[in-house]
Amino acid sequence: MFRRLFLTLLLLSATAPALALNVVATSTSMGALVRAVAGEHADLTVLVGPDQDLHSLDAKPTMIRALRSADLVVAVGAELEIGWLPLAIQSAANRAIQPGQPGYFEAAAQVSLIDHGAPADRAQGDVHPLGNPHVNMDPVRMVAVAHALAERFALLDAANAARYRRGAERFAEQVDRRLPQWQQQVADAPGVVLYHRDANYLLARLDVPFLGTIEPIPGVPPSGRDLRELRNALEGQRGIVLFATFESPRPPQRLAENLGWPFEAIPLDPPLDADGEGYLALIDRWVNAISATR
Ligand SMILES: [Zn+2]
Repeated sequence: MFRRLFLTLLLLSATAPALALNVVATSTSMGALVRAVAGEHADLTVLVGPDQDLHSLDAKPTMIRALRSADLVVAVGAELEIGWLPLAIQSAANRAIQPGQPGYFEAAAQVSLIDHGAPADRAQGDVHPLGNPHVNMDPVRMVAVAHALAERFALLDAANAARYRRGAERFAEQVDRRLPQWQQQVADAPGVVLYHRDANYLLARLDVPFLGTIEPIPGVPPSGRDLRELRNALEGQRGIVLFATFESPRPPQRLAENLGWPFEAIPLDPPLDADGEGYLALIDRWVNAISATR
């Protein structure tokens, strides 16, 4: 009897299908979330490293190859990857991951967005007319995205649904634990100037004053006049200038020097191999920088 049960179990495990879903994440933040939710039950490829600008890339053959065999694509969305992802997905000719299919997932579609632009903004060069896509800079929105992602994994791989839901729960608990510490750390921070409207998600979440952007409009480089106007508006205040590592360092440095403020370049996404903890460590870095001017 015992022996038969053992044999049955052995047979069951031998005939179980390959477990890991083949997942492609566009950014390392999305990759970190996939690892947080699915762990080893995702065979993960991340397309773009944290040193690259997701706004301005070209579709590459390596991306198309990765997409060809994917069960699920996890993108940031809200047109952040519009310059390359639609073309790469089209070229991969994989029906499972076309937009509208269960195998296509956008983080920005799961949460409310800030910075909804007027229609005229696109005419002026705004690269984000649908609203601000940089939801990965808000850890609380990322919790909502993690729960939605767990449900998507569950839809594609029902046998492991409980694992995915547990992964999202664990990530939610980690964020819940960190949030009061972050809020306390930045409580008296005087405020931040960013290069682009990206980390304003984090500033809004932590109630830190958002003092302006180097860019006059998202995606439009600043003129000398833009920088002079910004400097005049901020003269006499305290703050810090923070910008992404791939952004042009000269304008933010010059503004900071003129105002006598500190400045720092910080990645917008965690390292390539980051999991949920790696993502939270990136938020820690931003919080430390924001609080540096207390
Ligand atoms: Zn952007």
